[in-house]
Amino acid sequence: SLSDYIFSQLEKNPSLKTAIALIEAATGNSVSYPEFIQRVKNLARYLQNKVGLSKGDVAFILSPNSIHIPILYFSLFHLGVVISPANPMNTTLEISRQVELSKPVIAFATSAICQKLPRLFYPTILLDSHEFFLMMTTPMSTNSLKITKIGQSELSVILYSSGTTGKCKGVEITSRTWTAMTSAAMKVSRSNNKQVVGLCVVPYFHSFGFGCCVKAVATMETMVVMERFDLRLMMRTIEKFNVTNIAVAPPVVVAMTRSERGVGGYDLSSLKVVSSGGAAIQKVALDKFVKLFPGVQLSQSYGMTELGCAVAQTISPNESKMLGSVGRLAPNCRAKIIDPDSGVCLPPLQQGELWIKSPTIMKGYVDDEEATAATLNSEGWLRTGDLFYIDNNGFLFFVERIKELIKYKGYQVPPAELEHLLHSHPEIDSAAVIPYPDEEAGQIPVAFVVRRPCGNIQESQIRDFIAKQVAPYKRIRRVYFVDSIPRNATGKTLRKDLIRLAVSGHTSKL
Ligand code: ATP
Ligand code: MG
Repeated sequence: SLSDYIFSQLEKNPSLKTAIALIEAATGNSVSYPEFIQRVKNLARYLQNKVGLSKGDVAFILSPNSIHIPILYFSLFHLGVVISPANPMNTTLEISRQVELSKPVIAFATSAICQKLPRLFYPTILLDSHEFFLMMTTPMSTNSLKITKIGQSELSVILYSSGTTGKCKGVEITSRTWTAMTSAAMKVSRSNNKQVVGLCVVPYFHSFGFGCCVKAVATMETMVVMERFDLRLMMRTIEKFNVTNIAVAPPVVVAMTRSERGVGGYDLSSLKVVSSGGAAIQKVALDKFVKLFPGVQLSQSYGMTELGCAVAQTISPNESKMLGSVGRLAPNCRAKIIDPDSGVCLPPLQQGELWIKSPTIMKGYVDDEEATAATLNSEGWLRTGDLFYIDNNGFLFFVERIKELIKYKGYQVPPAELEHLLHSHPEIDSAAVIPYPDEEAGQIPVAFVVRRPCGNIQESQIRDFIAKQVAPYKRIRRVYFVDSIPRNATGKTLRKDLIRLAVSGHTSKL
C-alpha cells in the first residue's frame, strides 16, 4: 500500500526519530513522525478488525483541516479503502449527491457537521470524539494488521472537482497518481536536503490540499495545520512555528499584499516559498508580492482534479516574475495545444485547448462514461477545457476556461484579461467579468466591481479605463458595484452565480 511504501522509505531516514509530523496551529500540540506512523497503524488495525473495513470499501469524509485528517488518510491508504473527502461547507443536498456517487460504507465527520450527512445505513465515526482519539492511540495487542496489496490501477481516492462551472464531478484517482507524485517529490526533497515546515492553507478535501498532504508525509515535512484561513492567524503561525513553505489559493496572496493588514508587525523571515494554485493570480498582486517579499519565492502552479495534481509550476524566482505563466511542464508529463474547432495541433504561441498526458491523470468520472469519454481519449490524452498557449521556451500561459469565454458577435473575449486590467486600477478592490446575454451581440462583457473603501469611481470611468486599453469588441458594456465577489473554497470566482444574479436582476444581494 502507499502507506507501507512511504513508511518504509521514511524508516531509512536517520532523522525520523526526532522529526515532527504535525503541529496544530491553534494549540501548538504536536505529533512526532514515529507517533504519526504508530497512530496510522493503530487506527488501520482498529478499522480492519473492529469495523471490518477492507480493500475497495469507500469511506466518506466531511471535515475541515485538522491534524486527524493526514492520520486518517494514511490509515485508509494502508487498508486500500477508497477515500472520498468532500467540502464540509456544501449543503445537505450537495452532500447527498456526493454520497450517492461514491457509495460509502462508512463516514468520518466532525460533530458540528455530521448532521449534514444523509440518514443512511453506514456508521459514522466522529473525528473530534474521545473514541476516535483512542482508536489512534491505543495499540491493539491482539489481531495484527494484515498487509494489503494494492495494484497501481486500483481505485484509491474519489475527489470532487470544485463545481466552478456546474455541479461538481466525482473524479476517480488510482494509486498510480500517488506513486508518480510521491516518487517525484522524494527525488526533489533528497536533492534539496532541507527540513520543510509546511502550512497548507488550502483544504485537504480538494485535490491541491490532498496532494500537499500526501507529498508532505512522503518527504517527511512538518505539517502545521490551521482549521480555516485567517490572515492574522496565518501570519502569527508562520512566525511562531518558523514555517518555510505555504500552499495557498490566489486570494491569500492578495491578502498578503495588503501591507497595512498583512506584514505589519510579524517576523516572516522563515518563509521561503509560497505555492499558489487553482486560479490565476492578478498581475498587480504578483507585482506587489515580489516587491513586498523580496526573499520569498512565489510559485504558481496549474492543475485540475482530473489531472491528480499540478502538472506545471514555476520553480525559480525569475519564473515567478514572468507575469501570467504557470511555469513549465512537470517531468513525466506531455502537453499539446489543440485547435478546439479543427482538432489540429498548434505551434508555439498560438492559443488552443491544452491536452495533457501524465501518469497522474484520473481513471474517469464516477458513473459517467459519457463525460469520461468526452474528456479522456483512448490514447490517454486528457482534454483540460482550458485555453492556453506555450511560448518558445516551453512556458505555459493560461488564457481562460473555454466554457467561460465571452462570445461577442463573432469574437471571443477572455474575462480573465479584463479582470487583470480592472485589478490594476487603484480605486478597484476586486472585480469579475461575465458574459451577459444580449440580443444583438449574443453576449456582452459585464463587470462586477468592489470599490476600494476610500474610492468613489463611477461606471463611465471604469468603462473608459478599459476602452483605452483593449480592442473595441472587448469593451466592458455594463458595471455592477457590489460589496463582495463570490468565491469557492479554492479561491475561484463563481462566475456562474454572478451570471444568475445579473440575469435575474438580483445583483444587490452581493
Ligand atoms: P468544475 O470542473 O467542477 O467546474 P473546477 O474546474 O474549478 O470546477 P478544479 O479541478 O478544482 O475544479 O479546478 C481546475 C481548474 O482550475 C482548471 O481547469 C483551471 O481552469 C483552473 N486553474 C487551476 N490552476 C490555475 C492557474 N494557475 N491559473 C488559472 N487557472 C487555474
Ligand atoms: Mg473543471
